[in-house]
Amino acid sequence: MIIKVLGAAGSEVPGHNCPAFLVDGKFLLDAGTVAVALNILEERTLRWILLSHAHLDHIKGIPFLLDNLVSRGTGTTVTVLGGEDVLGDLRNNIFNDRIWPDFTRIPSPEEPSLRFKAIDPGRPLGIDGYTITMEKVDHTVPAYGYIVEDPGKTAIAYTGDTGPTDRFWRRMAEHDVKMLITETSFPNRMEKLALASRHLTPALLGKEIGKMSPPPQRIRIMHLKPQFVQEIESEIRALGHDNIGFLKDGELIRI
Ligand SMILES: [Zn+2]
Ligand SMILES: [Zn+2]
Repeated sequence: MIIKVLGAAGSEVPGHNCPAFLVDGKFLLDAGTVAVALNILEERTLRWILLSHAHLDHIKGIPFLLDNLVSRGTGTTVTVLGGEDVLGDLRNNIFNDRIWPDFTRIPSPEEPSLRFKAIDPGRPLGIDGYTITMEKVDHTVPAYGYIVEDPGKTAIAYTGDTGPTDRFWRRMAEHDVKMLITETSFPNRMEKLALASRHLTPALLGKEIGKMSPPPQRIRIMHLKPQFVQEIESEIRALGHDNIGFLKDGELIRI
């Protein structure tokens, strides 16, 4: 599996983009940064998007991606997959012909540039040779993580945004996950805000790792608020786990 980090930050400032990870050139885990980070070929070969939740920093690349595909007349359809409630938020609040056009009818209802496909939590779904398992995490809005197994049976896990959680780690333990991508948004001194907004700090991440049986060989952290990057990174290093690293925008990861 090859993962291209289009964005790994918990907000947007110059040099730090919102979360989106291109896997094998075929699909995205979240879509906070798309059109500004993909070349035309990548844009055309992208076929599906797994969404963790409907917060703007995870979806805001989709409207411009679709606009580009239709403007270029590529004739391609992008299928956005996720929880029924997450997709409902996109339908009702973004692609509602007010905030943005309803691309499920553009260029035509028969061959649209956008399709939605709801996934049931816990029920594996086969797509393009990959097996996708979605499971609930704990965030302020409906939110789901994913376990993605490629055709060669290599598996990764992606939590999206989450505070302390249990169900997802139990689901992850059913798979031989080589790499986990999860979040740490705030430094330890902001634990109260982290818990209220259902995010993690380095200390909270340490407790979550303690729940994993066993933790994956590689853990990669995203969604750091750009203002606190150095503080969060040094607090995570202080946890003393030698399998934790930080995702950087533009990075390519081979698993
Ligand atoms: Zn969020
Ligand atoms: Zn977020």
